[in-house]
Amino acid sequence: MIDVLVIGGGNAALCAALMAREAGASVLLLEAAPRAWRGGNSSHTRNLRCMHDAPQDVLVDAYPEEEFWQDLLKVTGGLTDEKLARLAIRASAGCRDWMRSHGVRFQPPLSGALHVARTNAFFMGGGKALVNAYYRSAERLGVQIRYEAPVDRLDIVGGEFRAAYVKGERIEARACVLAAGGFESNRDWLREAWGQNERGEWPADNFLIRGTKFNQGVLIKHMQEQGADMIGDPTQSHCVAIDARAPLYDGGICTRIDCVSLGVVVNQQGERFYDEGEDFWPKRYAIWGRLVAQQPGQIGYSIIDGKAIGRFMPPVFPGVQADSLPELARKLGLPEATFMATLNAYNTACRVGTFDHTALDDCHTEGLSPAKTHWALPLDTGPYYGYALRPGITFTYLGLKVNEQSAVHFGGVPSPNLYVAGEMMAGNVLGQGYTAGVGMSIGTAFGRIAGTEAARAALQMKATERDCAAA
Ligand SMILES: Cc1cc2nc3c(=O)[nH]c(=O)nc-3n(C[C@H](O)[C@H](O)[C@H](O)COP(=O)(O)OP(=O)(O)OC[C@H]3O[C@@H](n4cnc5c(N)ncnc54)[C@H](O)[C@@H]3O)c2cc1C
Repeated sequence: MIDVLVIGGGNAALCAALMAREAGASVLLLEAAPRAWRGGNSSHTRNLRCMHDAPQDVLVDAYPEEEFWQDLLKVTGGLTDEKLARLAIRASAGCRDWMRSHGVRFQPPLSGALHVARTNAFFMGGGKALVNAYYRSAERLGVQIRYEAPVDRLDIVGGEFRAAYVKGERIEARACVLAAGGFESNRDWLREAWGQNERGEWPADNFLIRGTKFNQGVLIKHMQEQGADMIGDPTQSHCVAIDARAPLYDGGICTRIDCVSLGVVVNQQGERFYDEGEDFWPKRYAIWGRLVAQQPGQIGYSIIDGKAIGRFMPPVFPGVQADSLPELARKLGLPEATFMATLNAYNTACRVGTFDHTALDDCHTEGLSPAKTHWALPLDTGPYYGYALRPGITFTYLGLKVNEQSAVHFGGVPSPNLYVAGEMMAGNVLGQGYTAGVGMSIGTAFGRIAGTEAARAALQMKATERDCAAA
């Protein structure tokens, strides 16, 4: 029998598999996707958020524990477990050497990335290179890997893991780590979770999925049915405003629209609906998907002028371009009169100080609702650009409740041999909101813990089996 079964094939699963193998356990990893699509959402990532008290390799200045914690507290509005959050934060300080030992390489951010040279370490070659490095290392260390192996249920007796089932095949193991992502790719479940709004729309029908199509939440649902303790609200997720022209799945990072804070955003009625300059973009980009989801037709339009060009990472598709704002309204199919009233009111309300996109500057609006509190410059310089926005769901927060050992709980009691990591438990730390790079910090921290704990449980069980056989 295998010691540790790891279910999933992204960052959290790979960290768990590598740690369990390093601890001396035999490990089998089951990835639902075919080899070419392995790595889940992790293959789309670019960086992880790291605490550090002084400049370190690719990270400048310092990003102390307390600041990281305060950032997390702010974005989650307090919906976070401080003990688990601090555990992930502290683990982020020391994980890069271990990651390097498995072939991950880092680089400073490219200019135009989200003001994150201080807080986030970027993966050279992105998340795809990271997962490839981990798979190579896992293979070298003797981790067995099976692709196209979706697990649909587990055999759990009294909170203890016994086996997993793949297409009817029973696979037994002494311990198990669940790291099979959220349920973001399951459109029916998203529809059910978001329900129907007051306009009779089903908002989730207009969501696009930024990452893998394989995170269907099969095991989240199964664990719920098995009576595992759950955490999080099914409507809470990391949800970004992305280019409405993005594909349904796997559009990845290049479909994100990063110019929101440089202009204004209107809905299909041509009206603004939120402060585009509320905070730095890395701290705010993840609320815009939800904001767009709440608009009629689940669509928004990010409007900028020529001054914004060169100040943000350009998305993969060019924006709709026009020489004047009325022409832009017509090209975007927006009601011209309301659009122009909105834009004129905004332009008149701008109080321009010293524009600085790297600081919470003093360019703001006065007497406008909603206000734009920073980076408010009149949109007065052609050409003008517009990007249609849709909610792009990154990952969901509903998951399994854990303790510091990353153990799955049943009725408040931790399982002796079933652990969970990554998106399947990120909701313990992220009740709502997001700050860039923390998904990989959580997945790396709890993936490593889950792997270590699973190996410990399995090897202990093996020793007991040996003792019993010898007696
Ligand atoms: C476009 C994009 C960009 C992102 N950028 C960043 C970033 O820069 N920094 C950051 O911190 N976070 C980022 N994230 C979020 C990040 O991807 C996640 O927080 C993190 O990768 C989660 O890792 P995971 O291992 O839990 O899930 P995943 O990487 O999604 O892995 C889940 C795995 O489980 C497999 N699976 C699913 N169901 C089953 C099953 N039933 N049986 C077997 N296998 C199954 C899937 O095939 C997949 O391999 C980004 C996400 C996206 C989509």
